[in-house]
Amino acid sequence: MKDRIKIAIQKNGRLSSESLSLLKKCGVEFTESKNMLFIKSTNMPVDLLMVRDDDIPRLVSQKIADLGIVGENVVMEKQLSDKELEINQKLKLGFSKCRLSFAKPKGFELDDLNNLKIATSYPEIVKDYLVTKNINAEIIEIHGSVELTPFVNISDIIVDLVSTGATLESNNLVEFDNVMESEAILISSRNTSNEKYQWIEKIISRISSVIEAKDSKYIMFNADAKDVEGLIQMLPAAESPTVIPLADKAKVAIHSVCREDIFWKTIESLKSAGASSILVLPIEKLAN
Ligand code: ATP
Ligand code: ZN
Repeated sequence: MKDRIKIAIQKNGRLSSESLSLLKKCGVEFTESKNMLFIKSTNMPVDLLMVRDDDIPRLVSQKIADLGIVGENVVMEKQLSDKELEINQKLKLGFSKCRLSFAKPKGFELDDLNNLKIATSYPEIVKDYLVTKNINAEIIEIHGSVELTPFVNISDIIVDLVSTGATLESNNLVEFDNVMESEAILISSRNTSNEKYQWIEKIISRISSVIEAKDSKYIMFNADAKDVEGLIQMLPAAESPTVIPLADKAKVAIHSVCREDIFWKTIESLKSAGASSILVLPIEKLAN
């Protein structure tokens, strides 16, 4: 194939290692090297473009990359600032989960946000939020060390990404409102050539199988045939289970894919309801 598929991923940052590991799980083989900006897959017509996350939506929109892995927060910010951005949001990838939140210095009393100075790296998202809520405040755009700004008279409050809240806490800030939730997503460019299309669809479908499998489990157990109905009801998000007869005619083995994690509580309930030899296995790939 003369036109190779280009996938843009973050070179250095919170999305990088999970993006690479997701592609590896999809069968894309390559040799990583720390400072490479361009990585050629050794077994598929795929090249990885190692870039800053902020550039990924534009690279995909301009078809320099066919696919990209980036946070929803970045996609939203870029879409608000450039209405012409041509990308499709394909899949939520389940990692780099965070939220874009308002935070204020501990002890700072506020009634509403009117007339405050708000520092953020996401000016368009914040502007959109303020307009929707009819709030008149000043946005200070800053990239990096946003948490510092309320303490050096640059801002009153901030809007920043939070995952555990530990960074806010250690900077004497308290989260008080949430603007959006975010996680890594797969984006694709529009109207790709026919030749590429099939490969792109194949990659998207493989990624979807890996994501789908991540939260799914395969469960097997034995039980009295008379208890089967009740036990199946207890399985979380179960596909139609397979019921296999055992040498002991009164007993059966039940196998099922569950589209959710199976917690200890469920296993204990299954046991109390007559299940034995319960095995719960992780699933690597789940193709539909
Ligand atoms: P780059 O140098 O590529 O521009 P960056 O500094 O903008 O990197 P990172 O801090 O690596 O970006 O974050 C990348 C993405 O990871 C964010 O846009 C967001 O989607 C996600 N993320 C998850 N948790 C957090 C968090 N606690 N703080 C910041 N980003 C987070
Ligand atoms: Zn960035």
